[in-house]
Parts: sequence; C-alpha cells; structure tokens
Amino acid sequence: MTHKLSLALAAALCVAVPGAAFAHDPAVEAAAPMPANPFFTASTLPYQLPPFDQIQDAHYAPAFEKGMADQRAEIDAIANNPAAPSFDNTIVAMEKTGALLNRTAAVFFNLAGANTNPAMQKVQAEMAPKLAAHQDAIVLDGKLFARIKALYDQRNDLGLDAESVRLLERYHTDFVRAGANLSDADKTTLKAMNAELATLSTTFSQNVLKEVQASGVLVSDVKELDGLSADAITAAAEAAKAAGKEGQYLIALMNTSGQPPLSSLTNRALRKKIMDASLGRNSRGGEFDNRAIVARVAKLRAERAALLGYANHATYVLEDETAGTVGAVNKLLSDLAPAAVANARKEAADMQAIIDAEKGGFALEAADWAFYAEKVRQAKYDFDESQLRPYFEMTSVLENGVFEAAGQLYGLTFKRRTDLPTYHPDVMVYEVFEADGKPLGLFLGDFYARSNKRGGAWMNAYVPQNGLTGTQPVVANHLNIPKPAAGQPTLLTFDEVTTMFHEFGHALHGLFSNVKYPQFAGTSVPRDFVEYPSQVNEMWATWPSILANYAKHYQTGEPIPQALLDKVLAAEQYGQGHATTEYLAAAMLDQSWHQLAANEVPSDTLAFEAQALKSAGLDYAPVPPRYRSTYFSHIMGGYSAGYYAYLWSEVLDAESVEWFKENGGLKRENGDHFRKTLLSRGGSVDAMQLFRDFRGRDPQVGPLLKRRGLEVAPASAQ
Ligand SMILES: [Zn+2]
Repeated sequence: MTHKLSLALAAALCVAVPGAAFAHDPAVEAAAPMPANPFFTASTLPYQLPPFDQIQDAHYAPAFEKGMADQRAEIDAIANNPAAPSFDNTIVAMEKTGALLNRTAAVFFNLAGANTNPAMQKVQAEMAPKLAAHQDAIVLDGKLFARIKALYDQRNDLGLDAESVRLLERYHTDFVRAGANLSDADKTTLKAMNAELATLSTTFSQNVLKEVQASGVLVSDVKELDGLSADAITAAAEAAKAAGKEGQYLIALMNTSGQPPLSSLTNRALRKKIMDASLGRNSRGGEFDNRAIVARVAKLRAERAALLGYANHATYVLEDETAGTVGAVNKLLSDLAPAAVANARKEAADMQAIIDAEKGGFALEAADWAFYAEKVRQAKYDFDESQLRPYFEMTSVLENGVFEAAGQLYGLTFKRRTDLPTYHPDVMVYEVFEADGKPLGLFLGDFYARSNKRGGAWMNAYVPQNGLTGTQPVVANHLNIPKPAAGQPTLLTFDEVTTMFHEFGHALHGLFSNVKYPQFAGTSVPRDFVEYPSQVNEMWATWPSILANYAKHYQTGEPIPQALLDKVLAAEQYGQGHATTEYLAAAMLDQSWHQLAANEVPSDTLAFEAQALKSAGLDYAPVPPRYRSTYFSHIMGGYSAGYYAYLWSEVLDAESVEWFKENGGLKRENGDHFRKTLLSRGGSVDAMQLFRDFRGRDPQVGPLLKRRGLEVAPASAQ
C-alpha cells in the first residue's frame, strides 16, 4: 500500500520557503547551544533529501506548530487579499502554502510508521487533533471558499489550460466535501467530530502496534518449535532475550490474521495458541482493546456523512473514487464471494484428505490451514520455499531484478549513494537517472523489519515532484523482511520478491511524475486506482529474462533451475481460494461498518463482525478475514471504505498485463507508452481516462477472473 498523509493539503508540497526567522535567546544559546531546527529551512542536500542526521525528536512539535502558524498566515493573506480573486492569487497561491508543514509532515508521518519511538508517539497523539483543526480552519474558511467558488463558477472562461481547470475543480470539490457549504453551527459540530476522529485513529493505530509487541507467543521448550528453521529458532530466542525472557523463545506476531510460522510448526497446540493470539488482538480487554474505538469511529463517521448530506460514510467516500457508488463496490465483492469461498472449500478438501490419511482425527481449522497448504503444495508442486530462497538474495533481487526491469522498460539507471544521511543504517539510497543521463530523483529502500516499524509494505514520497518549483522527487519503499544474523545473506521468500517489485511500481509512479501542480503529483490519484501501477510492476518478477538475471544462487552463482522455476510459476495459482476469500472478507467488513447509518452502529463489535461475514456468505471459519475489525489499520486510517480498492485496481492491472503481453512484453516502446500515458500524469487527468489513454478502451473484468480462478462467477466491474 502507499502511505498518504491524512491532510489533503499537506500532500501538496511546496518549496522555496524563505529562511525562517525565529526568536533567539542569546543567553540560552550561550549556555547550551541548541542546533537550529532542521525543518525551518529547505534542505540543502541533493533533491532536498531531509537532513535525517540532524533531525531530533524534539524538533517535530515546534516544526508542526510553526508550520501550522505559517500556513495559517499564508492562507489568511490569500483570503483577505483586497484584489479580486484570480487563479494565480488564489489557487496557485494556495498550492504554494504550507512548505514547512508539508516538509515536517512528510518526514514525521513516515518515520512514525517506519521507525517510531515513545517520544514520537507522544507527538503523534498531541498533533493529531491540532492538525485536524488546522485543516478544518482552512477548508471551513468562508472568505477563502467565496474566492474559490467565484473562480469555480467561471472556470471555463478564465483561459486556463486543462490541468489548471482540473486543479480549480479539485479545490472546489475538496472544500465542499469538507463542509464549506455548511452553516456556522454545523461547521462547529464538524470540527469537533474531526478532532475526535483524529485522536481515535491515532489511539487505534498505536494500540495495534503495542498489542503486536505485547501478544507474541512465548515458548519455553525448544521441542515445541519443531518444524521451524534453525534461523527462525535463533530469531525467536533473540526476540525473547530482547523482551527480557532469556532462555525462552518468542514468536512475534505479524499484522495480518495469518502468521508465517503456522506453515511449518508441527505442534498443533502451539499453532492454535498462535492463531488465537493473532485473532484475539485488540479485543481481549486491557489497555490495548480497540472494540469500543471501532464502534465509536463508525458512529462518528456516519454522523459526519449525514451532516454533509450523505446516506453513510461509504457513500461519501466512494463518490470521489473511480468506483463511484456503494452499489458498484458491493456488486464486485458479492459477485466474487461465492466462487472464492467455493475455491477455498476445494483447497480445504485436499488438506482434510491429508489429515485423514495421516489419521489426524480432527477437522481442519484456521490454525492448520497454512501447515497443510504447504503439504499440498509440496505434494502437488514438489518444492518448498527453502529451496527457492538461496536464489533470491535481496540486493540481487533489487539491482538485477527490479532495477533491471526498470532499465529495460524505461531506460533508467541507478547509482548507489552512500554519502547521504539516512534515519537508520539499513536504509539504502540510490540516485536515479534517465536514459540520457539526466537525473530523475532519489530512491530510498528501507527493507528490514524492526520492532518499531509497522507491518506490511508501503511507499511514500519525502519530496513530491513539483512543476511550479522544478523540484524532483525523493521516494521511499518500506518492507518488513526479517533481518538475518550478522554476516548472513538476506534471502527472500517469493512473496517478498513480489512485494519488492510491487512497491517499486509505486516508486516509479512517484519518480515519473511530470505535472505542473503538486496537488496532482505522483500517487495523488483515487485510492481505487493507486494500487494499479504497482500491481502491474509485479509482472516483471516472473518475466523469464528478468528472473534469469536476478535469481542466481547466492553461493554458486548458478541460475535457478528451470524445473524449479516451472514449479514456482505453476504453484502461483495455488491458494487463490484462500487468498481471495480472506481478502473479500476484510473488504466486506470494511464496507459493512461504513455503510451503516449512525443509529445502526452496534455496541457489540465482534457480534456485528460475525453477522456481517455471515450475511456476505464469507463466514467460513477456516479462512478468517485477513484483518479483523480491531486490528484493521487500513480502515481506521486512510483506507476507510476503501479496502476494496486492491481488487478494483487489480481489474485494471490484469488488463494491463494482457496489454504488455499482446505487445511484445518487456521493451522500451511499451514502457515509454505506459509512462507517457499514465505513470507521468499523476492525478492531473481523470483516472479512468488515463487507463483508456493507455489501453485504448474501457476495462473488462475477464483477465482478473481468469487470474484468480473465479471465472464461474457472473461478475463485472465498471
Ligand atoms: Zn501497493
């Protein structure tokens, strides 16, 4: 997933801020020279890379405070400008506000996910309601909106180019959707709701992270870990030691319902203990319980939607997405559900046959799924993950795989930069160049898991491309690859390889951005469109010439054997029933919570969850939702009513993969076409129009159904 700032306006970054004057106290400085706050001036590093080596936790709060005050003053000047509103003195002027705040937010919110600590968590909790109030003060400023509306009403008579008209429409839409047309009394109510939601969302995400840390499963007898690799056992011993339980073993949990050790642990009782710990997260009482927060957030969002004139929160959200309506999303999800569950049941039958043949004497449960899925996979495809990993050394995957594909498609080259500061020694920095040698931007790779890093994988832009200032992008990818013991190579799973290609697809979207206004830069597209370019980039992970280039044995340099490779590719299809069902269940939960009116929000969170899955036909106990409501961070943060977006995007992805194959696959001509029509356009053109410009027609759902083995369902999208 991508990481987007919660502040719509903060996503637009402007540069060329004048050197910030700040009150100095000579006496204090003489006593204890305090380094200047590095956020107060634009970075002087290449590409305005944040000066990570100078940023301290104590810098964030003052930078946020001054950043909000500066932007407030800039906005006041625009709103109170005695000159009649013009596109330049109002809209372009707004695009240029908030440089300090944007600079601070881009670093802070990303590091709050990637490298947090208690001091940052405190700042996050303190700033969430203040930032929400700051944002509200802008979008609910009556004088400012009057100027925007006056321009909007004559938008086609202002002599503007298409991107500028779209920017004006975007501002008008954003302000209206944020409540600009409400009465003063309703605006006050709305502000209070937004402040409470901001606080609840921060508490929720911090609870999820703390619960992951608190609910790892402790094992005292190493025999119970039978099946785990020696490396995984060492890692569990080290995790226990770090937690003050030396001599024991700690199975750390990942953010999803499913947990990786379940595929190899032979001890069924331990498997069940781990699964129970995972599924029970944030709903077992105690200080990290999120049940009441989930219900309260659903109620507040429903009330806010009603205030803004919408039937429910999902209707409000989807109006601004390519999906458009609740009906369109419900149709995609419910059309696919029966076929997905039927496929999962077929997969379960194969597993139950193994359990019965082994005289196991039990019915397959969620905790057993990964273990027996691995057995079926080995029986059907005759290989296991450990045979593959020696061919997937991390740096080779990145440089000889991900970068090589970008080189052949787009002519890019990459140069490692070890001279630039980072926030953690594991972060790798590369400078990216065009085919003709012109610099394009910086790419940061932060690939290893840490206990202070949130789960999953994501991309963010520290510095978005900006056509007004000529600023080039600085983008980053974040993964959670377990770090090997010192001196050992980092060998990836096939999933991790795919994720690396996926996240780099987002990075390309950011790097290729070539728009005038920062509002439209890079990944500033609808949520149900943003996953599409990154999903397309996954196709190169298994493209034969790319794979041959990166998948070499880390010790011998031997290429991956063709027979093993064939099995890997065949096995890719295996497990689609489980994957699609757990995804659909989570997507349906997200919609269920957000399609409620305020008076329908239940008090019993888990009972509602169970009922919602049952009504959707997705209450198949061996396949729990990928996330349960109480640890579903996507929907409490930026993806509320938007988790369906991955599948929606995949319709476009599957179509585009077909296009590349029809047109000769991996070649410059094809890459250049994708870049020119779509990857470089950001949000400057309607998203579905971008797709049509690239593909030459509207999307069809067939390729997706084929890929996921769902062709029996009479489904359609669009
Ligand atoms: Zn993504």
